[in-house]
Amino acid sequence: MAPKDTKPTTTDAGIPVASDEHSLSVGPDGPLLLHDHYLIEQMASFNRERIPERQPHAKGGGAFGHFEVTEDLSQYTKAAVFQPGTTTDVLIRFSTVAGERGSPDTWRDPRGFALKFYTSEGNYDMVGNNTPVFFLRDPMKFQHFIRSQKRRADTNLRDHDMQWDFWTLSPESAHQVTWLMGDRGIPKSWRHMNGYSSHTYLWVNAQGDKFWVKYHFKTDQGVDFLTQEDADRLAGEDGDYHTRDLYDAIQRGDHPSWTLHMQIMPFKEAETYRFNPFDLTKVWPHGDYPLIKLGTLTLNRNPTDYHTEIEQAAFEPNNLVPGIGISPDKMLLGRVFAYADAHRHRLGANYKQIPVNRPQSPVHSYSKDGAMRIDNVTDPVYAPNSKGGPSADGGRFPTDSTWQTSGDMVRAAYTLRKDDDDFGQANTLINNVMDEAARDRLVANAVGHIKAGVAEPVLSRVFEYWKNIDQSIGERIEKGVKGD
Ligand code: NDP
Repeated sequence: MAPKDTKPTTTDAGIPVASDEHSLSVGPDGPLLLHDHYLIEQMASFNRERIPERQPHAKGGGAFGHFEVTEDLSQYTKAAVFQPGTTTDVLIRFSTVAGERGSPDTWRDPRGFALKFYTSEGNYDMVGNNTPVFFLRDPMKFQHFIRSQKRRADTNLRDHDMQWDFWTLSPESAHQVTWLMGDRGIPKSWRHMNGYSSHTYLWVNAQGDKFWVKYHFKTDQGVDFLTQEDADRLAGEDGDYHTRDLYDAIQRGDHPSWTLHMQIMPFKEAETYRFNPFDLTKVWPHGDYPLIKLGTLTLNRNPTDYHTEIEQAAFEPNNLVPGIGISPDKMLLGRVFAYADAHRHRLGANYKQIPVNRPQSPVHSYSKDGAMRIDNVTDPVYAPNSKGGPSADGGRFPTDSTWQTSGDMVRAAYTLRKDDDDFGQANTLINNVMDEAARDRLVANAVGHIKAGVAEPVLSRVFEYWKNIDQSIGERIEKGVKGD
């Protein structure tokens, strides 16, 4: 017997139903009746529960919290979200890149680190990763890269030969691949990894001065990792290991936090810096651009409905607020188109009206109608108008997060500068950052990965690739793979 105060079940139209268990039939043993609308509503709703999963970054989890500005960097940006003392609600989503919605959390892969700041001047999204670099520097290759990480057409299996084929034909991937095969390629948990913007962005201050910046969210839990063996075991024992870790930590009041530091490059310096500072396969060495503290990100609230709050969360790097702009990083220029396009496909034209995607600041846009529109549109529905509708205020909100450019239209790689190459920073990572034990694990991880399916002619290129990064590491990997 249900307790007296239990709410009566209703249909989606709010109509009380007579039974949660029995379909309407002709006698207890007879056929079912098509006009049992409640049964049909249940079946139809169930059949439509799944929406298209994200193409990359399908498996993930997230939480809510806030970002508090503890320092004064107002000399570099006028963005309201980063003014001293400001606290802003945030949503974060962590993810793996290559797998599907049900893939194990502990596979070797970069992790997404996507943030939505619900600022007083609209939503600001910083869609980063747990790595400061990426495999590519031109968005033309991104689709191909992700396909090489996903599944073959014939076997429907992931294929390391396909992955290394693509990587070795794309030497700009060397830095990220080295990073991925190192310890940080499998974080202990999402709480134990850093988040990076990876891209360079533009900041503009109240006087109109411009700066190039990179974001570094450094974990206050300390960076920690899983060995390949532990990760493989956990993939079998608990595919949702990282999802569970985050949820449980927040649930028990152990709120994870990250300290945001910025690297800031004066606008003019980009022209003469020794390598292209917009190349996504490179970091700015800390020695050249030291980290400058800005504030703290804290996560303190779990979602109550994964689907509406995390699966339908729509992060997009084009969500930029006054005082923050993009840079000439070609990957970023591609992403500011691609993300919103993906959301329109997955969630529909009015996805910004889904509560988790709504800004906390007022919306006065001229968008109108479309499937699943929820907000009422009011007249006038056009601009300019003399009927009291919103009008853009270019005086208060000028087009100032911009840069000058000119040139012929070409399809070409970035112009090379003195220190532009594909392998140098990967070599630095191996020889100046990793210790001997970390190098041993790098070799073992790479050997295991290559042995799992890479064949000639790709295999010879793999050894060349690693020798280009570091001769000795390349020889050790070759020896390990050949089993000499
Ligand atoms: P630094 O010695 O100042 O920085 C090295 C950084 O490497 C550390 O601060 C840490 O980044 C990161 N790190 C430590 N262990 C690992 C690991 N196992 N895998 C990946 N990263 C690790 O030197 P530089 O700034 O000159 O950079 C040298 C190399 O360090 C780069 O070529 C790059 O591969 C790597 N790196 C550099 C970063 C940067 O923004 N400059 C950021 C991350 C890596 P963190 O402090 O962010 O934890």
